[in-house]
Amino acid sequence: MRASNATPAAILSERAFVAGHRGLVGAALVRALARAGAPAPLLVEKARLDLRDGAAVESLFASERPGHVYLAAGKVGGIRANDAYPAEFIRDNLAIQTNVIHSAWRHGVRKFMFLGSSCIYPRLAEQPMHESCLLTGPLEPTNEWYAIAKIAGIKMCHAYRRQYGFNAICLMPTNLYGPGDNFSLEDSHVLPALIRRFHDAKCAGASEVVVWGTGRPRREFLHVDDLADAALHLMARYEGEDIVNVGTGTDLSIAELAALVQRAVGYGGALRFDASKPDGTPRKLLDVSRLHALGWRHRIAPEDGIRATYQWFLEHRSEVRSGATVRSAVAVPEPAAAAATAQPAVFAPDSERFAGAAAAASGVPTSRRENLGTTAAMLRA
Ligand code: GDP
Repeated sequence: MRASNATPAAILSERAFVAGHRGLVGAALVRALARAGAPAPLLVEKARLDLRDGAAVESLFASERPGHVYLAAGKVGGIRANDAYPAEFIRDNLAIQTNVIHSAWRHGVRKFMFLGSSCIYPRLAEQPMHESCLLTGPLEPTNEWYAIAKIAGIKMCHAYRRQYGFNAICLMPTNLYGPGDNFSLEDSHVLPALIRRFHDAKCAGASEVVVWGTGRPRREFLHVDDLADAALHLMARYEGEDIVNVGTGTDLSIAELAALVQRAVGYGGALRFDASKPDGTPRKLLDVSRLHALGWRHRIAPEDGIRATYQWFLEHRSEVRSGATVRSAVAVPEPAAAAATAQPAVFAPDSERFAGAAAAASGVPTSRRENLGTTAAMLRA
């Protein structure tokens, strides 16, 4: 593990490609780049580019030649979605990352960020989970499809680094939440699902809210603006093959999380735990000593982050993702539309949107946003 030779200013002066900019993580990366004063990144709408299509991805890199890349596109979802759509979880993620990593290398991308997940570690890994426990035991079955794809992505980055000197770094974020999350009742992750469930119960005057599982599993939660801040910090200051966990280093039980969300939403009814629903892995807490040694710590406390996310949910109620099924991170082309994707597309960055992104409310209280600006300022220095 070593610090990067590239100056922070150098990485920020190049145009980035943020793959998956409409998602929870991608949108946060766009906001973070705007705060850091970086040039408008290349952002391509799903309707224009299917990242599972290798030829289309090649064409994008050949014409646009981004300097560095953040790969935030992929199929994501909670414990039920992983179980319901195993084929898409493994296929879409493998295809997207294979295409984007390969084309980025072929077209001379100077630095690449691959985002994995804390679910890559064995189900019964020693807690907190150090990066070195990767591939030391069986995975949690409820999300092994996603985990296997992510592990393959890490290994592909390592292989390209070893054989071709490709400068890819791999971050393993813990459970993320924040503005732009998927608030579906069925297919989202626990935190946005609980926000939605408590909100709906409050509006309906319901006497109880059902929480899946026993309430005993423990999870760690990181606000997505913290993740984006860490991503820029590490892109500018770290390079090497060692994967880096990104989390807070503290966790809470699902019952404790439910109580926090209940308070933030202001729901006065009862909680009922439905033990017929799966608990998933008993505990998922990251060892963040490597991240801390690289000079980054999270700033947003769960209470603040949850309150801000609920506020964002209220302000964007009509547009939040709350459908019953997880949508693919990339548009599935209809047979007739598939031919159109082979045509040269206009890959215009949405500069206007980018300019507004720095000012866009991320849902985090102002004082926190000022804090978040510190890494941006540091990188510009
Ligand atoms: P995981 O971290 O991969 O297990 O993903 P989730 O965020 O989907 O689930 C975390 C934990 O929260 C599991 O123990 C779930 O059973 C529990 N949980 C409780 N209520 C819900 C809910 O409404 N949705 C989801 N997704 N999980 C819930």
